[in-house]
Amino acid sequence: MSRTARVAVLGGGIAGLSAAWRLAKRLEPSSIVLLEASRRLGGWIESTKTSDGGVFEHGPRSLRLAGNAGRASLSLVEELGLGDDVLPVLPSNKGARKRLIYGDGRMNELGGGLAGMFRRSALFSEPLARAMMRELVRKNAPACEDETVHQFCERRLGNEIAHWLADPLCRGIFAGSSKHLSMRSCFPKVYEYERRYGSVIRGAVMSKKERLRYKNSELVKRSKKEAWVTWSLRNGLESLPNRLGHALSARGVKILKNKPCTSLEINNNEIKVHMKGEDSAVRVDSVVSAIPARNLSSALMANHPTLASHLERISAVTVAIVLLEFDGKVLPTEAFGYLVPSHQPSNALGVVFDSCSFPEHDRTGSPSTRLTVMMGGHWFNDLFGGAHSLTEDRIEAIARETIADHLGIQAKPTRCLVRILKDCIPQYNIGHHETIGAIDQYIEEHSLPLTLVGASYRAVAVNDIVDTTMQAVDQLCNKRMESWSC
Ligand SMILES: Cc1cc2nc3c(=O)[nH]c(=O)nc-3n(C[C@H](O)[C@H](O)[C@H](O)COP(=O)(O)OP(=O)(O)OC[C@H]3O[C@@H](n4cnc5c(N)ncnc54)[C@H](O)[C@@H]3O)c2cc1C
Repeated sequence: MSRTARVAVLGGGIAGLSAAWRLAKRLEPSSIVLLEASRRLGGWIESTKTSDGGVFEHGPRSLRLAGNAGRASLSLVEELGLGDDVLPVLPSNKGARKRLIYGDGRMNELGGGLAGMFRRSALFSEPLARAMMRELVRKNAPACEDETVHQFCERRLGNEIAHWLADPLCRGIFAGSSKHLSMRSCFPKVYEYERRYGSVIRGAVMSKKERLRYKNSELVKRSKKEAWVTWSLRNGLESLPNRLGHALSARGVKILKNKPCTSLEINNNEIKVHMKGEDSAVRVDSVVSAIPARNLSSALMANHPTLASHLERISAVTVAIVLLEFDGKVLPTEAFGYLVPSHQPSNALGVVFDSCSFPEHDRTGSPSTRLTVMMGGHWFNDLFGGAHSLTEDRIEAIARETIADHLGIQAKPTRCLVRILKDCIPQYNIGHHETIGAIDQYIEEHSLPLTLVGASYRAVAVNDIVDTTMQAVDQLCNKRMESWSC
């Protein structure tokens, strides 16, 4: 006989909130409980709004639109009634579309669009189009199933592209090293293109386009019509998790903040979820875990040590961010920002020119410039000797030295916010797909009522997390449809 299922969602970041939102459409909302370790929802999505109207993002600052993943978060925004708050970056904002790479003491513009491919940039000895033409006919197969992003790009596209494009791109997305990150796990589509079509370029042109979902969303339709480049929200991206939290509570989902899950006891299809500071456990039929893999590993260590040891292998890196505001317009050029390759002598991974993409987030009144310096990642300990030995003053000083050196900005900032984001970006290093395979197999073989979502596993971008989480919850409900009243 079917009955209402009880589900616990662990973690109130964007993955946990999206999971609870989807579950609340399929199940009785009051049978869903979400546990969040900290006092706030949103995880790494956090925005500071200042009294003079400025908005500063500590985590993600803009979301892209490509594919179903891009549509997923936009249609979620619409469902939550946040459509009027969307700030799109339109194609007319040429500055926000410009991407720069810092190298050999100067800013180098990456040729955008088709025309840019045929121009020679100072970083490359030939136009990018020529390397791509060669890639089309190159027949060198990979030496093994998994290779680093660097090895893959060097083999297919040549040494210059591996050094000047793939390297800074990995620093920009994963704060990681292209010489450790796995091509297969970090860029699965590109990896598949080569496997299926013998060439990345051929694969990109010939692969079957994914079946588009979220077709009925008016916001998605508008974004296509106006060809948005990226988007944010008027009061910062944190409005999205905040609104999700309110909407879930209004529907009757129980949200418990300040309640870290300490252990999971799984017996005969019932899970006891233990929380810090609570003697009695929450009993549920199923758990959706949206917490970092290493935290889940600790919660499973006593009951499922083998699974815990697989989860433990998924590491994450620490990033220091410095948000700066200056009086007036101080940037030498309009751009999205710039990335710094690892082979250049610099403490920065990259700098985002926030005011160029979203001038709406600048303070009201007199003109100002906001920018963000990102540092550390894979190189954090080598550069700074561990998070505990680093003071905020020291980080601010390093950030200001960086922008003085790279951008010639010597002025004193009118505002400076420093954060050390500990273990904030998971690293899909070589062997990550084997770890994921072992985790999936263990859960399957032991019939554990456990679903894993969030940045630790398959994608770190917010859009991808929202999309894959919705799909994982649908799969869970479809599988249990007969025993649960979905
Ligand atoms: C500086 C920075 C910039 C970024 N920029 C972008 C960008 O521009 N675009 C983009 O798409 N992505 C960006 N990302 C990536 C993206 O923001 C993250 O990958 C995403 O927000 C992760 O969401 P999540 O829900 O998987 O995890 P998290 O945000 O880590 O949420 C997990 C939650 O679980 C809670 N938790 C942990 N342990 C427990 C426990 N035991 N019990 C209960 N709760 C627990 C945590 O407190 C947290 O709230 C950026 C990330 C960072 C750090």
